[in-house]
Amino acid sequence: MTLSLPQHYREILKSLGEDPEREGLLDTPKRAAKAMQYLCHGYEQNLDDIVNGALFTSDNDEMVILKDIELYSLCEHHLLPFIGKAHVAYIPTGKVLGLSKLARIVDMYARRLQIQENLTRQIADAIQQVTQAAGVAVVIEARHMCMMMRGVEKQNSTMNTSVMLGAFRESNTTRMEFLQLIGRSK
Ligand SMILES: [Zn+2]
Repeated sequence: MTLSLPQHYREILKSLGEDPEREGLLDTPKRAAKAMQYLCHGYEQNLDDIVNGALFTSDNDEMVILKDIELYSLCEHHLLPFIGKAHVAYIPTGKVLGLSKLARIVDMYARRLQIQENLTRQIADAIQQVTQAAGVAVVIEARHMCMMMRGVEKQNSTMNTSVMLGAFRESNTTRMEFLQLIGRSK
């Protein structure tokens, strides 16, 4: 017999020593299942549906930047949230992507079980694949609940990851310009 997601949560509550029949917990398995499904809804999305043709011809070959994109994800090791910001940039070669699409690409990968390094890489590769850009840069700064609430309990450490492709990797000037524009250069 396979259990449904709410039934699994009910079992988890019992394993923790709780009484799933007490008033406050009666609907918890159902609510927790629904919340978890929402937090993982990126599995039901794909790049084609997200982009949905919002790729426009443009002569612009200057860096396009979207910074401070709110990011909520779940670490795949502890199923605990990590929360932060993503900054993305690319250098178009004839095609630009609707700005909201950049944010939606970030979201699609964030709403899966992740480690921050892979999340950063997947976002960069997806933008590269869709735009055929001359370069793509992604920086993520995030705080991990698995570090803050358990384990080493480091409350103030932020993890930074970055992936630089093409021009951002090859040209120091381009990379510095990007880091300056997102306020990360010294
Ligand atoms: Zn973790």
